[in-house]
Amino acid sequence: MREVDKSGCLALVVCSALPGLHAWSGCDTVSALASQGKIKALKLVQANDLYLQAFTDLGSSWNVPTDVFNSIQAFTCQLYARNTKIVGANSLRYHMFCAKKGQIESGQLPPCEDSLMQHTLRANYQAAIWRRSLENLPDVPAPSAGHGWELDDGGSLKIRWMAGLPAPDVVLNLISCTCRRTCRPSDCSCILNGLKCTVVCKLQGCSNMVQDDAIVAQDANDSDGDSDD
Ligand SMILES: [Zn+2]
Ligand SMILES: [Zn+2]
Repeated sequence: MREVDKSGCLALVVCSALPGLHAWSGCDTVSALASQGKIKALKLVQANDLYLQAFTDLGSSWNVPTDVFNSIQAFTCQLYARNTKIVGANSLRYHMFCAKKGQIESGQLPPCEDSLMQHTLRANYQAAIWRRSLENLPDVPAPSAGHGWELDDGGSLKIRWMAGLPAPDVVLNLISCTCRRTCRPSDCSCILNGLKCTVVCKLQGCSNMVQDDAIVAQDANDSDGDSDD
């Protein structure tokens, strides 16, 4: 389609991809990927018909078809590593992490496939609403019905960052911090990961440590479970 009329035709086609691309690359309701702007994304889309088609399809229905997500996943890989042959976010994360021997900030890595899916679902939902903006009474499902958001205990909407666990429990339990004087939410790796400090942390007796009575209660629960067996 790009050969037909470079100026007019391509502009029209790119226009139809803009609602999806704008939502996906960050708008009022959908977050942006760390340090990934809109210009690079737009240039990539203009240069690749597959990506162009994927963002044109984004928001055309309330679901994200597998082929659309696969194209967007490949597109994401290109954003983080131009000209890479890798098309899976998880394996690109692994390759980039290994290439830097682990000396890389998590914000420099692409999101994992799981959280990329949730992000794409939110962008799709927003684009779907925009694409129906001329309908009188569009039939809009709840954002918490599998569109990248969920309800918290109080019934408020919150972002569903991922569907699975950030890491297996056994790995999360190994996280420790190296805080010297106090564990603060701004820089304590335990608190940042929503974990309590443990005996493997450098600072002992901080306010983020698991309290002894909580451990006793946990032990009591555990032994209750054992006695049932
Ligand atoms: Zn700490
Ligand atoms: Zn700690």
